[in-house]
This record gives sequence, structure tokens and C-alpha cells, in this order.
Amino acid sequence: FEVGSKERKLGIKGSPTREIHLVDCRIPGDRIIGAPGTGLRTALRTLDHTRPTIGAQAVGIAQGALDASIAYTKERKQFGRPIADNQAVQFMLADMAMKVEAARHLVYVAAARAERGEPNLGFITAAAKCYASDVAMSVTTDAVQLFGGAGYTRDFPVERMMRDAKITQIYEGTNQIQRVVMSRQLLKG
Ligand SMILES: Cc1cc2nc3c(=O)[nH]c(=O)nc-3n(C[C@H](O)[C@H](O)[C@H](O)COP(=O)(O)OP(=O)(O)OC[C@H]3O[C@@H](n4cnc5c(N)ncnc54)[C@H](O)[C@@H]3O)c2cc1C
Repeated sequence: FEVGSKERKLGIKGSPTREIHLVDCRIPGDRIIGAPGTGLRTALRTLDHTRPTIGAQAVGIAQGALDASIAYTKERKQFGRPIADNQAVQFMLADMAMKVEAARHLVYVAAARAERGEPNLGFITAAAKCYASDVAMSVTTDAVQLFGGAGYTRDFPVERMMRDAKITQIYEGTNQIQRVVMSRQLLKG
């Protein structure tokens, strides 16, 4: 195989991304995974295990943004008192924490069920990835808001977290596709 050029990305810059080009590539027959003809099923089943890991990545990003927001709003003073004294700020922090906690529990349940090898994991693993990444996007965006102008600068970590959160809504299947997976299992009964 050949490695493509390095992608220039919005976020997750600590993780380099390149395409892999398979050129006249022959794989020896003894390297086959599973029985012949079952490859697509095997490939799709791996997603039941990898989607919760993207959910976990999203929860980590969101928790980091929440922690940074709590610390900053207690420290930053405007009009002689910490901005955390404002109920509007307190309610934002409460909503952020509530969403992070709900996402964490959904990811734990999906991971535990996948780890036990339970059947019909499509809904729960797609829901965990989709919900946690939507939470990460909303919580990191609110974190930038709570930092005010400082949040928009590279002097603070929350703008990076917002950029890093975006990819969790896209890779391992976009969140539109996660919703396709979930609704398909719901309608199948
Ligand atoms: C940084 C990075 C790392 C990556 N790492 C890997 C990796 O390690 N391995 C790997 O295999 N891939 C990897 N990918 C690829 C990634 O998984 C895909 O980009 C992602 O699944 C979306 O596919 P696409 O880009 O072809 O989007 P498209 O399929 O072109 O989708 C474009 C838009 O159309 C929407 N859409 C498409 N089909 C439907 C539909 N049926 N219903 C509703 N909406 C639809 C999508 O939701 C999206 O909004 C990586 C991508 C990035 C950016």
C-alpha cells in the first residue's frame, strides 16, 4: 500500500490522518478473517465495538470543557464578582454537566453490553456514539461562550475542544447514519 498526503484538518491535530492507497495489493489467502463470504458482516459488527469508543472520546472532550468552564467562571471577575455568581451562568454549567453525565452513562451501558457480546447492539451503540458526540459539540460550544472573548483565542483550551468535538459527530459513521441505524432497529421490532 501507499500512504497519501497528510490531511489539513479543523481539529484532532495531535492525530495525523492520511489515506491508505492499495495499489495492485494481493493478500495471502491464509490471512482471511472469518469464513469466505462473511466479510461485510464482520466489518459491520466491528462497529458495535468501535462506536462506544468514539462516544467515550466525546465524553472526555465534553468533561474537559466542563472542568475548564467551572474553573474559569469561578476565577473570572466582572463588575466586582465572579461570573459564576450569575444564575444564567450557573444554569449553563448545570445543563452542561447534566448532559455529560447522561452521555457517560449511555456510553458505559453500550460498552458493557458490547463487551458481554450481547446480540442486537445496533441501537445502543449508535445511540451512545450519536448522543455523546452531540453533547460534546453543544458543551464545548457553551464552554467557548462562557469564556467570552478569551474562549475564542488560542490562549485557552476550549476553542481546541470545540474543534476536536466536531469530528466525533462525523467519523465512525456520521450522526445521520447513526440515526438511520437506530431507526432501522426500532422499526424492525
Ligand atoms: C479525521 C478523520 C479520520 C478518519 N478516520 C477514519 C478511519 O480511521 N477509518 C475509516 O474507515 N474512515 C475514517 N474516516 C472517514 C469517516 O469515517 C467518514 O468521513 C465518515 O464516515 C463520513 O463519510 P463521508 O466522508 O464519505 O461522508 P458522506 O457519506 O459523503 O456524507 C456527507 C453528508 O451526507 C450525509 N449522508 C450521507 N448518506 C446519508 C444518508 N443515507 N442519510 C442521511 N444523510 C446522509 C452525511 O451524514 C453527511 O452529512 C476519517 C475521517 C476523518 C475526517
